[in-house]
Amino acid sequence: MWTVRTSRLWWLPVVLLACPPNSPTAREADWQSCAEGIAYRLSDATPQQGAVVLLELRGAATYSRAEGRWGEQPLHFWPAGEALHQALVGVDLARRPGKSPLVLTATRDDGTSQTCTVPLQVRSGDFPIERLRVAPRFVNPPPEVLPRIAEETERLRALFAAVTPQRLWHGRFLPPIEGLPPAGNFGRRRVLNEQPRAPHTGEDFPAPTGTPVRAAQRGRVVLAEELYFAGKTVLLDHGLGLYTMYAHLHSITTQQGAVVEAGAVIGTVGATGRVTGPHLHWAARLNDARVNPQDLLALPVPAD
Ligand SMILES: [Zn+2]
Repeated sequence: MWTVRTSRLWWLPVVLLACPPNSPTAREADWQSCAEGIAYRLSDATPQQGAVVLLELRGAATYSRAEGRWGEQPLHFWPAGEALHQALVGVDLARRPGKSPLVLTATRDDGTSQTCTVPLQVRSGDFPIERLRVAPRFVNPPPEVLPRIAEETERLRALFAAVTPQRLWHGRFLPPIEGLPPAGNFGRRRVLNEQPRAPHTGEDFPAPTGTPVRAAQRGRVVLAEELYFAGKTVLLDHGLGLYTMYAHLHSITTQQGAVVEAGAVIGTVGATGRVTGPHLHWAARLNDARVNPQDLLALPVPAD
């Protein structure tokens, strides 16, 4: 005869197996001590090249400010509740694999502060090589377009380097195209017409021309125009060093300076710029690191 005890426990292994690694229960156990009275939690302590990591910092005593660096990269925290600060860490797709600590400082209301380090281990992205054929003018552009390319490169560099001090986004990130999967080609080393070129810094979504393209999150349009390589492009600034880019558009249905909400249609899929066919090129920059935008969709939803 089965006992009350066994009748209550038979389901336990089932629940444990069904509990995904990022469930609230499992993640509560992920808090670790950083310094006396300060705990931290990472959504991934061994991220691969191109990953986006959510870092959380929690203090026993309320502190008013959290700051941090990861090597050259500043971290931008936002307050997320009582004694809780959160920040996103971007692992550039070419960042060298290995151990590299985050250095964090938490400052209390009375001005006293504590500094501690958090270990982070970067893994190789193991990105495959992709060989493509495109129009020759996109592999070795004619001399007359070189000034235009240099000007656009410099403008994008300056935009990515600027940090808007407010976080403009909230809640979940949305895929830029509904119901169509990405190609899974982020980070691929590229050989164009037999010539090695820069790695692929985004994720491609093959889709018919005219398919609506949506803002992944709330943000400000800081660029909405046609670029030489990226074609018709929209760049959104989400604040605190995070940008998402939507390239090769057929049409742009927003304008520079506009603030768009998550899910708002900002253009349509096309084949402008350096392409082999109609698709959306979706890219993300975080504190100037070239990260996989698909990682934004998988983030634990940060508290607001
Ligand atoms: Zn692409």
